[in-house]
Amino acid sequence: MSRRGGAIHFPFGVPTSAPAEGPALPPSSKSRVQPERLRHRLDTLPGVGRVRAERLRALGLETIEDLLFYTPFRHEAPARLATVATLREGEETTLRVVVQSFAVRSARRRGLSVLEALIGDESASIPAVWYNQAYLADAFSEKPELLVRGALRRNRGSYSFRVTSHEILREDGREEGIHTVGLIPVYPATGDVSVRSLRTLLGAARVEAEHVVDPLPSRLVAGRRYPSRRDALLSAHFPRSLAEAAKSRERLAYEELLFLQVALLRHRREEEVRRPALALPPPGGITSAFMERLSFSPTSAQRRVMMEIDADLGLPTPMRRLLQGDVGSGKTVVAAYALLRAVETGGQGVVMVPTEVLADQHALRLGEQMLSLGVPTLLLKGSQPAAERREALRRIAGKEPLIVVGTQALIQEGVDLSSVRVVVIDEQHRFGVRQRAALMTPRPGLPWPHTLHMTATPIPRTLSLTLYGDLDVSVIDELPPGRTPVETRLIVTGRREQLWEFVRAKGGEGRQTYVVCPLVEESDSLQAASAVATYEELAAGPLRGLRLGLIHGQMKSEQKHEVMRAFERADYDVLVTTTVIEVGVDVPNATVMVIEDARRFGLSQLHQLRGRVARGTETGHCLVGADGCDEDALKRLDLFCRTTDGFELAEADLRARGEGQVFGERQSGWGDLKVARLLRDQRLLMDARDEARRMLASDPDLSDPCHVLLRDAAEERFGGSMDWLDHA
Ligand code: ADP
Ligand code: MG
Repeated sequence: MSRRGGAIHFPFGVPTSAPAEGPALPPSSKSRVQPERLRHRLDTLPGVGRVRAERLRALGLETIEDLLFYTPFRHEAPARLATVATLREGEETTLRVVVQSFAVRSARRRGLSVLEALIGDESASIPAVWYNQAYLADAFSEKPELLVRGALRRNRGSYSFRVTSHEILREDGREEGIHTVGLIPVYPATGDVSVRSLRTLLGAARVEAEHVVDPLPSRLVAGRRYPSRRDALLSAHFPRSLAEAAKSRERLAYEELLFLQVALLRHRREEEVRRPALALPPPGGITSAFMERLSFSPTSAQRRVMMEIDADLGLPTPMRRLLQGDVGSGKTVVAAYALLRAVETGGQGVVMVPTEVLADQHALRLGEQMLSLGVPTLLLKGSQPAAERREALRRIAGKEPLIVVGTQALIQEGVDLSSVRVVVIDEQHRFGVRQRAALMTPRPGLPWPHTLHMTATPIPRTLSLTLYGDLDVSVIDELPPGRTPVETRLIVTGRREQLWEFVRAKGGEGRQTYVVCPLVEESDSLQAASAVATYEELAAGPLRGLRLGLIHGQMKSEQKHEVMRAFERADYDVLVTTTVIEVGVDVPNATVMVIEDARRFGLSQLHQLRGRVARGTETGHCLVGADGCDEDALKRLDLFCRTTDGFELAEADLRARGEGQVFGERQSGWGDLKVARLLRDQRLLMDARDEARRMLASDPDLSDPCHVLLRDAAEERFGGSMDWLDHA
């Protein structure tokens, strides 16, 4: 199984020339050139019944095609092929042997059976041991030929061969060796589906790759030195070298990302035609008055984003811009600017926020600013006196220029958004695709509003290309001047006295503190109970004498509002809280945050929380409780203490928790990528994006014969999942 030189061999022949170069298909027809067999369900494979098929489905595997694209995450190094006589103690070896005799006994440890056999080839014989595989006895009674992989071991002076994997060679001479010979693929498996059975399935399914057709133009395949699709599918699983496996996987990942980018770009173009928006005239008197009255001068990053927004608003297609900016970078003033652009042209602007606490705060702050400009602001939230709500709805429906701040209540029945020209979605990651869609989609016949999505979740640029597909991205990459990074410290169990001393001392200086309670999973009421308990404990003990407030998700909205107002007025020294204050809350005099049981939070979430005490020019302090941490948790928290770079923390989260976990279904509207991994394949993603752009620039409909297959493959793979993007 050794290879010479660095060249990569494709064991299944030279790359086939892509049929895409063949006779032109009419551009509109769907080319169903892939073998029909790929679409067949897995229970059409030998040995797969209904139960098996069901279990495989849990891994996302339904069709033969799914299976072929289920690439291994690594390969086990090949073992030396040897004869019994040349075995060396402890060395991984593969032997081709015959079963000469065998016996099954139960071991001293109950429940463990031992199958002992004498195996041999022409050179010699040796005892071999299998644990818990007594069922092999049937097959062994026929004295079959075997491939075994394992190592020679010595136990109390006698040698035996400890088998790690084996396969029984069949009379029909069909190719075998997938478990024992060469590089052995190792698949992500679950308790229900073993790695071995996946390997067996792929061994059986690989013939189906024989006739797959390459959808990539052959110039691209050649240019990137990729194997054909067929060869890539075969060698990704059963390669002759690790380099070959890597190149094959890369090709499949690239192909997938290219399909995605082609589908995204085509989707966007179609939509520009379908979706008219009002082109707004350049900034006028109200926005310039707003800018003049600001109590600070905007950073150049803020100014740049405002200009990007102006450019978008001037077009007759809806703005679809994602604004990323770390906590405290000053996204709100940009949002206010965009909203005012709607108002000064005679329309309405709405901003949707995820919590009532935040809605109250925005309504209050914006309200004050807008009042001096003569622009009315309204608040719309779930808990609101009926009369107030009716009045708000009436004025919104009345089409007068104004700004609405609201929660999800904005997207309920009866809210007439037909005069809305600019929509801002703050903390957009907290909303689902559907909620965002509901706010952005106008009634039939009306123009689409311009939309600004804001997030503090730092997502590497390449990832946002994929996650948000065709949104334009603006970044505020500069903090307002004078900010000093929050000082973050780990508090180990024995130091709690000093922790509360610190809070008292800061209280003495007139500073306020948040105490964030441990996260209790999946339950708002347990979460609230934990907050109440913490509050009582602190009030009776370590913080006795300070003025303590309490806020949690189970409190009535009015109560929460009252507590927040009181905290803002500095009526409390300490606010005991759950993560309700995670987003957006801005109380500059609160400069200390204690986070209990920090290990339970993701790093990005901790960073969001910490952002609450990074508001003013005063140095903020974040004290992180390290109780119950194992080594991994300590490492994560240590990183959190060392860096205030949100991107770095997000990447660490990604690595620790996996992409699916971090982005989740809510963020990426399509199912998981099969082969490509966003973090690992960032460079490929950029390449694919560039290629898709080039291709569409020269052949907008992809009707060129060498693009047709690609177009249809992209459409088939991702076309159906583009709808969510209309609202992403
Ligand atoms: P976020 O991006 O987290 O939403 P905010 O918009 O709430 O941040 O801004 C955080 C704080 O910084 C607010 O108190 C805001 O008034 C202030 N701020 C925003 N921009 C500037 C600036 N250019 N100079 C000084 N302070 C600013
Ligand atoms: Mg904010």
